[in-house]
Amino acid sequence: MALILEGKPVALEIERRLRDELAEIDDAPGPPATASAVLVGDDESSRAYFRSILRTFKRVGIDVNAREISARISEEHLRIILGELNYDPDIDGVIVFQPLPDHLDRELPANVLSADKDIDGITYANAGRLSLGVPHLVPSTPMGGIEILHYYRIPIEGQHAVVVGRSPIVGQPMALLLLGENATVTICHSRTRDLASLTRQADIVVLAAGRSDVLTGDMIREGATVLDFGVNFVDGKMTGDAHESVFDVAGAITPVPGGTGVVTQRVLAANTVKAARIQRRLLQEPESVNHR
Ligand code: NDP
Repeated sequence: MALILEGKPVALEIERRLRDELAEIDDAPGPPATASAVLVGDDESSRAYFRSILRTFKRVGIDVNAREISARISEEHLRIILGELNYDPDIDGVIVFQPLPDHLDRELPANVLSADKDIDGITYANAGRLSLGVPHLVPSTPMGGIEILHYYRIPIEGQHAVVVGRSPIVGQPMALLLLGENATVTICHSRTRDLASLTRQADIVVLAAGRSDVLTGDMIREGATVLDFGVNFVDGKMTGDAHESVFDVAGAITPVPGGTGVVTQRVLAANTVKAARIQRRLLQEPESVNHR
């Protein structure tokens, strides 16, 4: 049976690291580390995520300025609000929950937010920096995957990582982060021919397809590590993208629930603290994870 890569100890380790950095911020002049969480409209899952982030940030010791905005807001008005947050000296980081209501451009936050306050790594500047190997603030979900691999001392350098999924928030940045850690990376997607022939070559398989059972035990080699980001509901039960047969073949695997999802919000908190250190000039240069 595979080693189960629980997310909770990783989350607690990130929280421990943040305590020291938050103490440094508290000792510096200015307000405490503060994030603005912007929720537009009434999407139920966004609201649940919004509430959960408020709880996590409070626990960690980050102030949250919660902005709940009517679904009827115009694009111009939202642009003004985000622009004001960019210049608000009391706000260190901003997260805008997706999906936005249909009449609003989904890309608006990526276009408007300041890269230094972009705690979920969605802006074009931060995506570009990551792709050029000079990451600044990176998307929290894939960074959580890297944190899990580091915490459990799973080697990345020189390993073949196969990433299933290429979305800008999970699959693609995960592939770039793994590349930055000197893995050899293959990216797969819905048009990939013969997925199994690729996943069977992998030392690390990353699942970010959002399709239950996209990976079965016969599609990996014995002892491979599997990071499962998938969130699916089958008969009312939350499952990942890995079929249960994967647990008999993998060397290590993140469970769903209890794996990657638990770490994501702590990385978001870590990004907020990093943004707060940047605003206060406690951190001058972006840290690079790229060893090339
Ligand atoms: P998207 O739907 O945006 O992307 C899915 C990706 O998977 C696409 O690139 C798609 O290919 C690819 N794909 C779909 N079906 C297959 C298949 N059968 N074989 C190979 N590739 C396939 O999803 P997200 O990236 O936003 O999210 C992925 C999963 O991660 C979801 O379940 C989501 O709920 C979850 N998630 C988990 C988080 C966490 O903290 N654990 C946080 C955020 C999301 P193509 O590009 O060709 O369409």
